[in-house]
Amino acid sequence: MSTLEAYARRSARREWWRDGLEASIYLVAAVGVALFVASGGLLVTAPIDHLYGLGRVAGIVAAVLVLAQITLISRAPYVERAIGHDRAAATHTRLGKVAFILMLVHVGLILVMNARYDGRSILSEAVALWDLGWFMVAAQVGLGLFTIVVATSLVAIRSRWRYERWHAVHLLVYLAIAAVVPHQFLEGSTFRDGGAAWWFWLVLYVLAVGSFLAYRIVRPLVLLARHDLRVAAVEPEPDGSVSVVMSGRDLDRLGARPGQFLLWRFLDRERWTQAHPWSLSRAPRSDSLRITVKPSGDASARLAHLRVGTRVLAEGPLGIFTDATRTAPGAVLVASGIGVTPIRALLDEAQAPCTVVLRVRSREEAPLIDEVEELAVQRGADVIVVAGPRGSGWGTAAGESLGALVPDVATRDIYVCGPVPWADAVVLDARAAGVPAAAIHRERFGW
Ligand SMILES: Cc1cc2nc3c(=O)[nH]c(=O)nc-3n(C[C@H](O)[C@H](O)[C@H](O)COP(=O)(O)OP(=O)(O)OC[C@H]3O[C@@H](n4cnc5c(N)ncnc54)[C@H](O)[C@@H]3O)c2cc1C
Repeated sequence: MSTLEAYARRSARREWWRDGLEASIYLVAAVGVALFVASGGLLVTAPIDHLYGLGRVAGIVAAVLVLAQITLISRAPYVERAIGHDRAAATHTRLGKVAFILMLVHVGLILVMNARYDGRSILSEAVALWDLGWFMVAAQVGLGLFTIVVATSLVAIRSRWRYERWHAVHLLVYLAIAAVVPHQFLEGSTFRDGGAAWWFWLVLYVLAVGSFLAYRIVRPLVLLARHDLRVAAVEPEPDGSVSVVMSGRDLDRLGARPGQFLLWRFLDRERWTQAHPWSLSRAPRSDSLRITVKPSGDASARLAHLRVGTRVLAEGPLGIFTDATRTAPGAVLVASGIGVTPIRALLDEAQAPCTVVLRVRSREEAPLIDEVEELAVQRGADVIVVAGPRGSGWGTAAGESLGALVPDVATRDIYVCGPVPWADAVVLDARAAGVPAAAIHRERFGW
C-alpha cells in the first residue's frame, strides 16, 4: 500500500468513527423512544392523548441528549480521539440547546394535558405535581437551574462574562442533573418496571456518569500519583511569554503527542481552584513536559511567579491537532502569536516536505521564533517569516497567499493556530488554494 493510500485509509477511518459517534446519539435516542412505545406508552383512548405521549417522548430524548452531553465533555479518550475536544465541546453545546427545548416541551405538554384531565389551571397542576413526591419538586428546581445555565451560555452573556464566572455558574448543571434524574426513575413508568428499558437507562447512566468520573476525577489523580508532575523551571522568553518546564516520572506513558494540550492545575494556594488549557510547546519527553504561555489575563500573567517544586494536576492529553489526523505526507504549519506553541511541538516530529509559516508583527514580539528556526534546520523544514503590520488578509499589506508561498500547498495538510479572525483568513486562503477541508487542522485558543 502506498503512503498516500495509507493516509487516505486512515482519514476515512477517522471520519467513519466521528460520524458514527455522532449518529449513535440519535440512534440511542430512537431506541429509548422505541422502548417507550413498546411499553404501551402511546396507547391512547382519544387522539388528543397523543400530545401527552409526545410530551413523554420529548422527556426521553432530552434525557438521552443530556447523557450524551455528559459523555462528550467527559474527556474520555474514545470521544477525544474520535471527534476531538473542540468538536466534542461544540456538539455538547448544540445538544444542550436542543435538550433544553425538549425539556420545556416535555414539561409544557405534560402540564397542559394533566391540567385538562384533572380540570385544573396549569399553575395549580404544577403545584399539584408536588403531591407525587419530593422528586417532582426536585425536577422543577432542576429545570430552573437548567434555565439559568442555558441563559448564561448564550453568546451575548458568555462573551461578556469572565471565563471563571461563567464556568462557576455552568457547574450548576451537575446540580440540575442530580435534581432531575430521580423523577425519571421514580415517576417515569417506562423505567420503573424493570426489563429492557430499565437496563437501557442503567447502561446509559453508567456509561455517561462513569466516563465523567473516570476521566475527569479519577484519571487526573492517578496521573498525579503515577507521574509526580512538578514545576522544574520557569523561564521567561524574550517576547514576554513564559515557559514552564514540568518534570515527572514515566511521562511517555501519558500518551501525549506533539500538538496536544492539557488542562493544567498548579497545586499552590493561589491556583489550585483553576484549570487552564495550555498546549505543549515541545514534544513530550519521558522526564519532562513544557508549556509556553502569553500573559493574557490574571492566571497567565501570574504564571511567571510559580514556585519550582509546585505539584501539577493535569487532565489530558486532549485535542486532535496532531500528526494522527494527517491526510497527506506533506505539511504546512501556520502560526501567529502564541499560536506558535503547538506548531513548535509538531515541528519536533516533522518530516520533509514541511514548511512553517510564521506571521509576526516583529521578531521581538514573536514567541519561540529562534527555537522554531533552529529546529526547522534540523528537521529539514523551510521557515517563511511573514513580518509586518496587519494586511487585508492573514498576511501583511502585500497580501501574501499560501498558494504563492508554498506552490504545492494543495497536496499538503495545513495546521493553523493563532487568533480566531486571523486563522479564519488562513483557512479561507488555504481553501482558495485548493486544500481539501479534511486536510485543514485548526487549534482554537478561545471562542
Ligand atoms: C486548546 C487551547 C490551548 C491553548 N494553549 C495556549 C498556549 O499554549 N499558550 C497560551 O498562552 N495560551 C493558550 N491558550 C489560551 C489560554 O488557555 C488562555 O489564555 C488562558 O486560560 C487565559 O487565562 P487567564 O486567566 O490568564 O485570562 P482570562 O482573562 O481569564 O481569559 C482570557 C481568555 O482565555 C479564556 N479562558 C480563561 N480561562 C479558561 C479556561 N480555564 N478554559 C478555557 N478558556 C479559558 C477566556 O474565555 C478568555 O477568552 C489555549 C487555549 C486553548 C482552548
